Amino acid sequence: MSYDVASKKAEEFIDHEEVLSSLVYADKYKNDTAYLDELLEKAKPVWKNGLLECPGLTHREASVLLACELPEYNEKIIKLAEEIKQAFYGNRIVLFAPLYLSNYCINGCLYCPYHMKGQIPRKKLTQEEIKREVIALQDMGHKRLAIEAGEDPKNNPISYILDSIETIYSIHHKNGAIRRVNVNIAATTVEEYKMLKDAGIGTYILFQETYHKEGYEYLHPTGPKSNYAYHTEAMDRAMEGGIDDVGLGVLFGLDKYRYEFAALLMHAEHLEAVFGVGPHTISFPRVKKAEGIDPDAFDNGISDETFEKIIACARIAVPYTGMIISTRESEKVRLAALRMGISQISGGSRTSVGGYTEEERPHDTEQFDVSDQRTLDEVVAWLMQGGYIPSFCTACYRAGRTGDRFMSLCKTGQISNCCQPNALMTLQEYLSDYASPETAEIGKKLIAEELKRVPNEQVREQTRGYLERIVAGERDFRF
Ligand code: SAM
Repeated sequence: MSYDVASKKAEEFIDHEEVLSSLVYADKYKNDTAYLDELLEKAKPVWKNGLLECPGLTHREASVLLACELPEYNEKIIKLAEEIKQAFYGNRIVLFAPLYLSNYCINGCLYCPYHMKGQIPRKKLTQEEIKREVIALQDMGHKRLAIEAGEDPKNNPISYILDSIETIYSIHHKNGAIRRVNVNIAATTVEEYKMLKDAGIGTYILFQETYHKEGYEYLHPTGPKSNYAYHTEAMDRAMEGGIDDVGLGVLFGLDKYRYEFAALLMHAEHLEAVFGVGPHTISFPRVKKAEGIDPDAFDNGISDETFEKIIACARIAVPYTGMIISTRESEKVRLAALRMGISQISGGSRTSVGGYTEEERPHDTEQFDVSDQRTLDEVVAWLMQGGYIPSFCTACYRAGRTGDRFMSLCKTGQISNCCQPNALMTLQEYLSDYASPETAEIGKKLIAEELKRVPNEQVREQTRGYLERIVAGERDFRF
């Protein structure tokens, strides 16, 4: 095989030799201060002809930063990641929750309790149960969900997923609404991706788990997911099916992190080369303890420090891509990750099928242990106390700003005249409808301060008017 970024074949756009030689390249230059300075300079965001330019780094260049061992330069890397994050995302953090529809699965993934031989009780929500879960999620304040299901064509066929999406969008309980449904289901065909697109999904998310083919085949011994090429080429099929926003991810801990990092960026470069737009998001999950699963059984676990550095280097390499961290991680790790580049987090999550309607957090059908077990209200208050703006915004996708149209919003810097007011207005909706009095009080002050930061005066005044109308009871304004 030879490396070809625009090839349609998995083993050519994730060419094993190219990954290995990128790691050799990274080792050669990792402590070369002149080269590190050059990379850090190149990756800085700068205004040019009215555009906020930030070229990012190639998989080879970003691998050099990741391998760097010089403490002084590692600090510079983190500072640059923070600067890039501030330039494009400001202090806004988008919130979402996963909704587990079914844990029926015919795959044999060694790290996942859903695997065929797993002993967990199987459960699939009926449309009536989905309604109840969605009402519970709306009552928490969520507007954006990621639906999750195991792979089982008999129990979870595409028709079930489509019906579930329709149900979710149809529920309007009090002032609640789910305005964006992201979908994390197994790799499928172009036809089925078209159906998902027609159902109005937001991002199609599929974690690669590992890009290392040999490791992948060992970890996925049976079931449809055992086909490395079919899984790795899924995003190409999704984009061919018309889905503009796709979300990548590696399950860190399964294989060597430097290999995964280089290959993940090669995947992003591939999508950019073929479709003219990179991934909308990248998720950063690590293997967690789960029923019958011991994360220590996978000997590639990474420290919190390394995990945070991966996030910082990714932020520098793909400046326009949304970056996600879930409640798999603790409050402490999430706080550091937010600083280094994460732009979306889940809050108040339950990973069991039907978990949101149970009084107590159920564990029997859970996918994995959740480290951050705080309520959404606690997460919202915590974000605000840390200087962040919790955002429930779903405007871009609803206004058709997906794929390259979203990217151009980032590049023109108009993001702060658009995302900042949208974040504040959706936060006000949350405060008016769902927040505890303490959280509402913190939020009121934050909104007053942050409104001043909307650069365009006309937009700022319009936002002020919309905020007053939200407080008076109207909903769903957006730019
Ligand atoms: N079934 C779909 C598929 O095959 O891609 C996706 C849904 S699955 C519910 C979502 C993700 O959970 C998987 O892609 C995997 O990365 C992650 N996962 C599985 N086992 C895990 C574990 N023990 N710890 C953390 N994440 C895990």
